[in-house]
Amino acid sequence: MKKPVPCEAVEKAAREKLTERGVTVQDIANIVYDLQVKYNPELTIEECYESVDAVLRKREIQHAILVGVELDTLAEQKKLSEPLQSLVESDEGLFGVDETIALGSVFGFGSIAVTTFGYLDKQKVGIIDELDKRKPKIDTFLDDLVASIAASAAARLAHRQRDREENRRLEDIKQRENEELIG
Ligand code: MG
Repeated sequence: MKKPVPCEAVEKAAREKLTERGVTVQDIANIVYDLQVKYNPELTIEECYESVDAVLRKREIQHAILVGVELDTLAEQKKLSEPLQSLVESDEGLFGVDETIALGSVFGFGSIAVTTFGYLDKQKVGIIDELDKRKPKIDTFLDDLVASIAASAAARLAHRQRDREENRRLEDIKQRENEELIG
């Protein structure tokens, strides 16, 4: 059996691919902030950055980035065989494999991540919009990958916020019970 690829190598390569293609953690954090601040006015951009960073530590996301960016890059170099070359190059509307790969990597973050991904796919905000417009670069896969990372990071924050609220509520109940016992 072949030795497995060390996970640090995969993570490093995935992060480098994003940077090489001009996408930073900060760019994605900005999208997450805009998505989530309406539900949590105390949200900070640092929390969003941290959440994107946590999502990038997930293996499924790293694998999706490696596959997608590789295909974009090969298409840019005209190295794919036909008809795939033309399909990727023209970002043909019915192609859909770009969305499928990106969507597959958000499932680990629950249904909010799935619906948010759908929203970002339609709305194209921030860096997603910039990627959509830059020519002659080919970002057929990258725009969807960025949307999936942002959607996962936003869903992660939403779940954490609910957990915090629940913990606060339970602590309140406990404290009231204690006060009643003492009183
Ligand atoms: Mg696309």
